[in-house]
Amino acid sequence: MLPIAADSLFPAVAEPEVSVLAPALLSWYASQGRTLPWRGTRDPYRIWLSEVMLQQTGVQTVIPYYQRFLEQFPSVEQLAAAPLDAVIALWAGLGYYSRARHLHAAARQLCEQEQGRFPSDIAGWLRLPGIGRSTAGAICALAFDLPTPVLDGNVRRVLCRLFALDEDPRRSSAEKQLWRWAGQLTPSHAAHDYTQAIMDLGATVCVPTAPRCTLCPWQFACQACARGLQSQLPIKRRRDVLPHRHEVAFLIGGGGGGGFAVRQRPLRGMLAGLWEFPSLQRTASADEEPLALAEALSTRLHLPTPVREWVRIQHVYSHFRVTVSVYRFDHVTPPCCAALADCCWLTALQLQSLPLHGSHKKILHTLLPST
Ligand code: SF4
Repeated sequence: MLPIAADSLFPAVAEPEVSVLAPALLSWYASQGRTLPWRGTRDPYRIWLSEVMLQQTGVQTVIPYYQRFLEQFPSVEQLAAAPLDAVIALWAGLGYYSRARHLHAAARQLCEQEQGRFPSDIAGWLRLPGIGRSTAGAICALAFDLPTPVLDGNVRRVLCRLFALDEDPRRSSAEKQLWRWAGQLTPSHAAHDYTQAIMDLGATVCVPTAPRCTLCPWQFACQACARGLQSQLPIKRRRDVLPHRHEVAFLIGGGGGGGFAVRQRPLRGMLAGLWEFPSLQRTASADEEPLALAEALSTRLHLPTPVREWVRIQHVYSHFRVTVSVYRFDHVTPPCCAALADCCWLTALQLQSLPLHGSHKKILHTLLPST
């Protein structure tokens, strides 16, 4: 039996009997498990790639990216040999670009220090950039059948409900408890199938809204279901308000079908390595009206002060939201000034295959019908 907090906010019901849970899940998985492109392989490279791509992205979005990535970089050696730019370009649109940078850095580390050999234990995976405890656990279970627990978002939700965890799962005490439960549930045999099964359960049955409890192989043991608490668990953190920033972006060029000035962001920091139109961003405040920002950018670029905003874009990134005021300078052509010397000049058509970051991709979409 597993311990349940004695001072639980919720009325107690019989505790789940752990030893019967894995067999029940495995039997469900045998008939209900999903068929996915990264299933049916024990190749650590493919499993690692899929786990990294799935960290913050849904399965349906990941599938085409996963397939394209493997076509371009079918081995860790080919990934390590590629320039970071090429890796980022393949990642464009998937978001959370630090994953691509870490993947590339880890591939280089493996090739330079381990002759391309993959670690076979969790400690070895944890030494690679971008690999946390849950990803390392998933890779070891899926590639080597080791009984290493996983605790990704889906598994976390399932366990919070199964054991009716009555605290915010992001608190460190709750986190420790969740890892304990995850470890106790993972069987010493069939860890590979069990890991895929619990991920599938979270993705297809114990879903965030309206879990399908009548189809769940753990319904007989689920404390949330017994107490009617499925919709209240996991306990949600009060959503933080995202900071709001203002930005101005200049569409310079494009007159007569010519190119627009675009530049690549630095390879470190926010949105590293992605491309954008010349722009200036500041945290919103009363005295930073778009036109004031536009004046500051036009001074920096030795362009006349724009008078009329061409279009306004709203975009939400993971850590902030931004309003972009876009101004056009149609009749500027390269080379125009030293301040734009680091820019490439590309037509709207050419820009479609360039990894622009989210808000600037929206600018391009606005531009396309009018060019
Ligand atoms: Fe989730 Fe319902 Fe299954 Fe409990 S019974 S684990 S709430 S799907």
